Amino acid sequence: MLFVADSMLGKLARYLRIMGYDTIYQKSYSDQRLSELAAEGRVLLTRSTVRATEYPHVIFIDKDLVKDQLTVLGSNLRLSRDQQKWFTRCSICNSPLSRVDREGAQAHVPDYVFFRYPERIQFCPVCERYYWPGTHRERMLARLKDWGF
Ligand SMILES: [Zn+2]
Repeated sequence: MLFVADSMLGKLARYLRIMGYDTIYQKSYSDQRLSELAAEGRVLLTRSTVRATEYPHVIFIDKDLVKDQLTVLGSNLRLSRDQQKWFTRCSICNSPLSRVDREGAQAHVPDYVFFRYPERIQFCPVCERYYWPGTHRERMLARLKDWGF
């Protein structure tokens, strides 16, 4: 299941990426760009009533809060609860994360992570961000669990 999130759905896109879904997000799209993405088989998530009638696979999102937006999605398609997939994708640029070599990571992560969870450090090869288990991740996990995932 591949998604493209329309403008104003950036936060939803981040959560979908955290859950492992390949989700394109830009602040705005030309109609041509959207058509190309639709041709890839991506499901368009949009707040626009106009676009909601123009694209082949579309889910119209009429809610403001991410929690409610995910509920709308869940009522239209089956969102996986597979937590193995969580945190496998860069929440900023959508690229799959990869393992890092231990030496390269040391300068980029807190010492306690480097020494305690070296095997859980991940790296985005595209935007060069490092990811590791920490309070930010814990908060997002707690939120998703709160929301029934
Ligand atoms: Zn990235």
